[in-house]
This record gives sequence, structure tokens and C-alpha cells, in this order.
Amino acid sequence: MSKMPVLFIGHGSPMNTLEQNDFTDAWKAFGHHLPRPRALLVVSAHWYFGATAVTAMAQPRTIHDFYGFPQALFDFEYPAPGDSDLAREITELVKPNWVGLDRDQWGLDHGTWSVLTHLYPDADIPVLQLSINALKPLDYHLELAASLHALRERGVMIVASGNVVHNLQKIQWRQRDFAYDWAKRFDDAVVQQLAQQPEDILRICDHPDYDLAVPTPDHFIPLLYVAGLAAADGTKPEALVRGYSMGSISMTCYGLGAGLHLRENASCAARLPEHIPPDQTNI
Ligand code: ZN
Repeated sequence: MSKMPVLFIGHGSPMNTLEQNDFTDAWKAFGHHLPRPRALLVVSAHWYFGATAVTAMAQPRTIHDFYGFPQALFDFEYPAPGDSDLAREITELVKPNWVGLDRDQWGLDHGTWSVLTHLYPDADIPVLQLSINALKPLDYHLELAASLHALRERGVMIVASGNVVHNLQKIQWRQRDFAYDWAKRFDDAVVQQLAQQPEDILRICDHPDYDLAVPTPDHFIPLLYVAGLAAADGTKPEALVRGYSMGSISMTCYGLGAGLHLRENASCAARLPEHIPPDQTNI
């Protein structure tokens, strides 16, 4: 079996689930062009808590982990099955690191299903989520990612879902495709770092715009999984989509071994409903 690609998807607003735009079109095209995996392992920015865990239930529930959005988003279901055998396989693979089997707590959150509904709309491929352990230093995530490398040869596609630039305090509601200069500088620097030395991605934490681009680490850490897998493989992640949303969100996507062409200046990512205070929602 050939090696499965790895993806990083800049997921943006949960409304991308229901809308069609350049970004969702790109995600749909990925699903058409990439091989069909045995299972998907997703590292979502939205499962960020004090332990490393993997979902191990036969049928993970669809979690609606936000408020204030239209009812259609709360009604959305992504009924993909789980794969408890694969979850156990992962706990063995990452030793001596410990990964807990989650049988009844989490499920699939919107970081996962807002993307997968475009990549694999039939929801017929088993999906597991791997939590982001909020208590660990950043280099832990690079190491853990490298230990997942063998999954790519076992038919598992690893998808990381976050946003490289993600500052909800600075959002410009009505400026759909606007990007602050600092957001562009930081996003460009990450593209360069990954193209040159993905193993040294943590150098980006010294970038002068890091604190504005990454005020909290939850949406940035998924990128470290792509960098760690690239380092384990000796290859470089390539930008697949470039674009911005509402000033302070980068929608850039990356692929490892994906063999896809870059789509530059993608536009019209879904916005937030206007009545939601951006600093009080969970997107
Ligand atoms: Zn998010």
C-alpha cells in the first residue's frame, strides 16, 4: 500500500460546513483527487484539554461545540463510524507516550466535521479524533506526530484541522477577504519554514508577529502534527490553498505527499453570524 497523504486544513468559521466558497471547493477537490483511506485520524483544534486521548467508540456522536449559530448547524450530523481496533493500535504505536481510549466523552467536533463534510461527504470512512494535550510543551506534539508516521503505510490519512493565524479579538466582521499585514507576514513565514525546515517549525515562535497570530495555541498546534510527520518522513509540506478571512484568520492549507496544486488567493470563506461576540465563541 502506498503512503497516505497528510493534510492541514485551515477550517475558519463553522459556517463553512453549510456554505460553498473557494475554500470548501478546494476541500471537495482534495476528496476527489486523494486516495480513499481505510480511516481518518483527525487532530482538531477543538479537542484541546488536559490529556492525550483518542476516540474509541463504534459510533462517535456529532458534537455541536459552539453557540449562537443558525439552527441548521446544530441539526448537522456527520454519522461516520469509529474504529476501536485502530484506536487500540494507536495506543501501542505511540508508546512510551500514553494515549487514553475515549469510549464515551468526546466524538466528532466541528473542527473535524466542518471539513470532512466537504472532503468525504458520504461519511462512510471511519473517523477517529486525537486530542491536543494542553498540558504538554509544543515539542511534545512534534514527537507524538512522528510516532504516528507508520499509520500512513497502514492506509490511515491524518488530517490536522486548525488555523495558522487565529486571533478572534481582532476579527473584522464585514471584511470577508481582508488580512492584516501581520497576519500575512506570519502566514508567509510559516509557509517558508515548512518548505525549508519543517523539523525546526518551533523557530516560528520567535517571529515578531507570533503573539498576535497565535494568542492561544489551540489552532496552531494541529500544524505541528504535519511538521512532525514531515520530519519523520524527510519531506516538506506544501501549501495547497492560500487565503484569509475577516482580517485575523488564515485559511491556508498544507499537504504532505498530496500531489495537489496550490490555489492562491482563495476567497469568500464563510463569516460568523453578526450577533456573536467573537471573543466569546468557540470557533
Ligand atoms: Zn476553529
